[in-house]
Amino acid sequence: MFLRFLLTLVCGLGLSFSVAAATPSVLTTIKPLQLIAAAVLDGIAEPEVLLPPAASPHNYALRPSDRRQIAAADRLYWVGPELERFLQRLLDNQPAARRLDQIPGLTLRSYGDHPHATDHGHDHAAHSHDGHEHDDHDHAPGTLDPHIWLSTDNAQRIALWMAEDLGQLYPEHQQRLQHNAVQFSQRLEQLHTQLQQRLQPLTDKPYFVFHDAYGYLEDSIGIHPRGVFTLSVEVQPGARHTQALRQQLTAAGPSCVFREPQFPADRIATLSAGLPVRNAELDPLGIAVTPGPAGYEQLLNTLGTTLAECLEQL
Ligand SMILES: [Zn+2]
Repeated sequence: MFLRFLLTLVCGLGLSFSVAAATPSVLTTIKPLQLIAAAVLDGIAEPEVLLPPAASPHNYALRPSDRRQIAAADRLYWVGPELERFLQRLLDNQPAARRLDQIPGLTLRSYGDHPHATDHGHDHAAHSHDGHEHDDHDHAPGTLDPHIWLSTDNAQRIALWMAEDLGQLYPEHQQRLQHNAVQFSQRLEQLHTQLQQRLQPLTDKPYFVFHDAYGYLEDSIGIHPRGVFTLSVEVQPGARHTQALRQQLTAAGPSCVFREPQFPADRIATLSAGLPVRNAELDPLGIAVTPGPAGYEQLLNTLGTTLAECLEQL
């Protein structure tokens, strides 16, 4: 009965169900892209995200429901095959897909651009010694660093580009899309300045990460990790590997070690036992962030603030 009432109402308003059902659906692969799209679509629509919050895009396996969601999307934003390898074949025939690592004006970086990557990072020998496949992408020197969303500069480019692109889906909202993207871009300028002011006095404080994901943020601010530890989430490191990592920590003196949400805290406690090391957690995918138009700023601000809070205490 309610349906009939609704039908009458809708028809009475001169609309039809085909119009109602044609509300475009915007899907992104990972949450950071969803957050950027949410800022652009503020007041217009709420973009959806494909991957569950804690899933790593590097080694994700598509479920049948994911394939249905992809097929139904009017837009699908993804970074590119360096990040979402699981999508590459599927998206060749998906006209709604938009690959973001190819949009004009992005700052792209390759692994191996910086001394830290060859000096200390990417301990590939020890990595394979542990007898597991890569949990993350290879980070092989010369390949694209696919964490393109982790600088305010790139996020601004992506948002402005999305506003143009979404204008085709939402022609009646073109002005609003542009306005949202410009506002977002201005807020990110401010955020970048704030983070830079806070982090620049800390550039010589040593820190270590477990995932070479922060290069875009680090390059934009001028900080760099002393090392990138390669450790498996599943497998305990061997004695030799543990010793090598402890040697790096010892040589650095008081330092910060940043784990990520998926990484067992006790593994790091063992690694740094007895050393003057502070631990904190970085969340590059925004797992803890509430989805919405302000979510991207929250993600980046939390990253920068977490880095600063730990380094300031050294
Ligand atoms: Zn990564």
